[in-house]
Amino acid sequence: MQKDDLLRLMRDPNLLPSEKQVLLSDIASQAAAMDLPCYIVGGFVRDLLLREPVNDLDIIVEGDAIRFGESLVKKFGGKLTLHDKFHTAIWHLPNSSDTLDLITARKETYERPGALPTVIPSTIDDDLHRRDFTINSMAIRIDGDHFGELLDPLSGQADLEDGLIRVLHPRSFVDDPTRIFRAIRYEARYSFNLEPLTLNLVNPEALDVIPKLSGERIRHELDLIFEEKDSSQMILRLGEFGVFKKIHPKLPLFNADYSDFLEMDPTLDIPASRTVVAYMLWLMDLSESEILSIGQRLYFTTDQTYSIWAVSQLKKSLPFLTGSSPSVWTYALEKLPLLSIYVVYLVTREDALLDFLSIWRHVKPHTTGDDLKARGLEPGPRFGEILHQIRAAWLDGEVSNKEEENDFLNSILNGHSSR
Ligand code: ATP
Repeated sequence: MQKDDLLRLMRDPNLLPSEKQVLLSDIASQAAAMDLPCYIVGGFVRDLLLREPVNDLDIIVEGDAIRFGESLVKKFGGKLTLHDKFHTAIWHLPNSSDTLDLITARKETYERPGALPTVIPSTIDDDLHRRDFTINSMAIRIDGDHFGELLDPLSGQADLEDGLIRVLHPRSFVDDPTRIFRAIRYEARYSFNLEPLTLNLVNPEALDVIPKLSGERIRHELDLIFEEKDSSQMILRLGEFGVFKKIHPKLPLFNADYSDFLEMDPTLDIPASRTVVAYMLWLMDLSESEILSIGQRLYFTTDQTYSIWAVSQLKKSLPFLTGSSPSVWTYALEKLPLLSIYVVYLVTREDALLDFLSIWRHVKPHTTGDDLKARGLEPGPRFGEILHQIRAAWLDGEVSNKEEENDFLNSILNGHSSR
């Protein structure tokens, strides 16, 4: 692409918000003042060339990114988090919650497949050659007069035009099989294809490295997939490639019937996480020990594993609860995470679950502990029992206003309640 055309894209506020354009020119002028070759890389360049809106800026310098970050903070404010080992810094922008990655151009070597690479500072050309796919291996230089020069040593532009995901070398997936997850994510997101040689490289040799990947890295890639619009298509494709058994021998295929459930109902007031819903749908039919073991492998928090387990338990106990009174439902469901209940509702359409989520869980009696004290009762376990009985009466329709509640309370205190 010609420099003028690229500049036009970079100045289009529909693609790059104006405040980001200002930020970019601030960075560019500071880099020029320090005589530091400076580039935007990766997803920004790819999406800009696709005329998609861009937001995240990854900045690379041929030189010391930490020193560059310190000079930006001195001139424009904000704060810096340093990662000395990787020669990178995160700039927390002034008066904003936004951050920006500042990276020293580097070269990487893999001591063993699946491990994190060893990093040494190098040139932008080496840096582009360490990347995952050609479409992610382009840079735009921004310092001084170079502003708007495209670097495309691996013909990423041509692959973007042809809609192809292509690795940079035949050992790419063996060095780092998280790239298989990434390839599938881009393939579905942009409706691209894996270039035929790249497709062939998703082979047993590469898949056999997946067990060596840390749970954290696999989990990160799966989370990124579940945050995508077309996540179900991506996760089904990963299954077709035989990736799951390599992650954990008991990890099942994702049930395609559940794909639509990944869109959360925004009207329900439940703290929702699309990724946690996805893991619930995926794992809910497994045994308790399988859920625990996969939870460990994928680095779930205790709460996440518990909420997945709760889905499986509730789904199994549903036949025993069906036909129960609202109070029985409520007391059985109340201790479980709301999201777990919602997911069981999605897959079973049991109306009582929705009634619990939207109505029953909010039902509370008017009577309080203080009222009972005022009636001369000594505080103790009986307090809880009485309040529980009154709430059950509300839930089951035996009481529907304050007077009836009062009568009901009197009947309990006089020992006449049937509950
Ligand atoms: P998106 O966030 O839209 O998926 P991105 O390109 O911003 O795309 P990041 O995960 O932020 O993706 O990674 C930034 C860049 O780092 C990528 O464009 C790619 O060049 C490189 N990269 C990321 N992960 C890997 C990897 N596993 N191997 C090689 N390069 C990678």
